[in-house]
Amino acid sequence: MSDDELRFDLLILGGGMSYVGAIRAAQLGMNVGLVERDRLGGTCLNRGCIPSKAMLETADFLHRVTEHGAEFGLTGTEGIGLDYPALARRRDAVVEKHVKGVEFLMKKNKITVMHGQGTLTGPTSVRVTGGESGQVQASATDLILATGSAPRGLPGLEIDGELIITSDEALRRETVPARVAIVGAGAIGVEWASLYRDLGAQVHLVEFADRIVPLEDADISKELARVFKKSGMNVYPGSTIVPESVERSKGGVHFAIASNDGGTRIETETDLIMVAIGRRPLTDGIGLEEIAGVELDRGYVKVDEFMRTGVPHLYAIGDIVPGFALAHVASHEAVVAVETIAGHDPAPVRMELMPRVTFCRPQIASVGMSEAEATAAGRAVKVGSFPFRALGKATIVGEVDGFAKLVADAETGVLLGAHIIGAAAGDLLPEPTLALLVEGTAAEIAMSVHAHPTLPEVLVEAALAVDGAAIHV
Ligand SMILES: Cc1cc2nc3c(=O)[nH]c(=O)nc-3n(C[C@H](O)[C@H](O)[C@H](O)COP(=O)(O)OP(=O)(O)OC[C@H]3O[C@@H](n4cnc5c(N)ncnc54)[C@H](O)[C@@H]3O)c2cc1C
Repeated sequence: MSDDELRFDLLILGGGMSYVGAIRAAQLGMNVGLVERDRLGGTCLNRGCIPSKAMLETADFLHRVTEHGAEFGLTGTEGIGLDYPALARRRDAVVEKHVKGVEFLMKKNKITVMHGQGTLTGPTSVRVTGGESGQVQASATDLILATGSAPRGLPGLEIDGELIITSDEALRRETVPARVAIVGAGAIGVEWASLYRDLGAQVHLVEFADRIVPLEDADISKELARVFKKSGMNVYPGSTIVPESVERSKGGVHFAIASNDGGTRIETETDLIMVAIGRRPLTDGIGLEEIAGVELDRGYVKVDEFMRTGVPHLYAIGDIVPGFALAHVASHEAVVAVETIAGHDPAPVRMELMPRVTFCRPQIASVGMSEAEATAAGRAVKVGSFPFRALGKATIVGEVDGFAKLVADAETGVLLGAHIIGAAAGDLLPEPTLALLVEGTAAEIAMSVHAHPTLPEVLVEAALAVDGAAIHV
């Protein structure tokens, strides 16, 4: 491309989940330019959702065959092992297929992709440098910022890529560590803990908060800790790795895990430590500080529910704005931004309706308020829970840990939140998510006949339990 200025209706800085918005804009007749310094698809496709779930699928497969194979009537399962390079090849092939798919969709929708580092030169203009597109100056009527996020570091546990790593480096490793410590038991931490455990590693999971998955309903944290411990994982809530104790050697890392109350201190050694304490928005170094009127809060771009920054024609979506840092949230926000730009009348983004799935084993899925959040918000609630153990389909599948818990308004029965841990929990989430959107009640979920034997029946029983009427208890 030349140094001449390119002119678009819409420019998007960062080609992660924003690509969905780019396609929507093209459908609405806009001429779209998208700037990306790396591969299309961003974190989700290249370093996040897709590769990690491809690996978890193998881990789950292995677990089912080795743990339940004989019970299910399979022979020869004792000798089954892991070919990690093959797992990695399949993971990379899955990623490649979908990156190519996004590239194809960009071409099909006539979206101009500019490869290089983008820097804002104004609220709706970008200078692109250092990539295969060469030097490009581009401007547009509207611009969406979508530069995403990167792993957060932890003082004392500096990332060296070998002994102390993040999920990014974990994807580049060629073997499964025999012993691993994971710092941070949020979604990314527990997924990797679960993965490494199922692939045969000894796992230490260290969480500063007083429970693992601290953003989930407290009952979910309790059940996950129970199952993790039962599977042999060492779980340390309310604890940290003491930074001064960390000693790197050729064979691994030696360190101490201490409880926050000073009560216990354990000295141990692992092959590596993975830091998974969350992600930071990538809003520095993109020229944002030069744009008057953009408000930042600890690095996050403040936006309204239509993704407007407050600077006319400048929007922001995804991991750089406050809210859940999830792929489907980012793509939804991108579409709302685009439809707002196009003068349509999209429904505002409502963070409280966003579904969340954590793909550890057992899976966790939640939407809406936890019991504690609803109570703290001043709502009188009634709660119904039902264990997978009592469900025919869960017994057939052979995964009986976990439960579904519904939180409803005490007076009206309107659903306020759903919290599921167990087999295929993520696949059960759309029903309560829709119920929240339409302000449906627990009684309506119970009233809607569910096919038998299926896992979603757990929701019917939990909904009945809200009024003390569960059947199979
Ligand atoms: C290990 C892991 C697992 C995850 N699993 C899930 C999951 O299962 N489900 C889920 O919903 N979410 C998951 N996520 C979160 C999900 O990946 C993110 O929420 C999502 O990718 C955010 O999309 P985004 O477009 O805001 O940012 P990103 O996907 O990070 O995209 C931003 C893009 O902008 C580019 N960029 C940044 N700055 C510039 C610049 N100056 N010039 C040009 N390009 C630039 C980057 O290269 C990147 O491609 C996971 C994340 C991780 C790390």
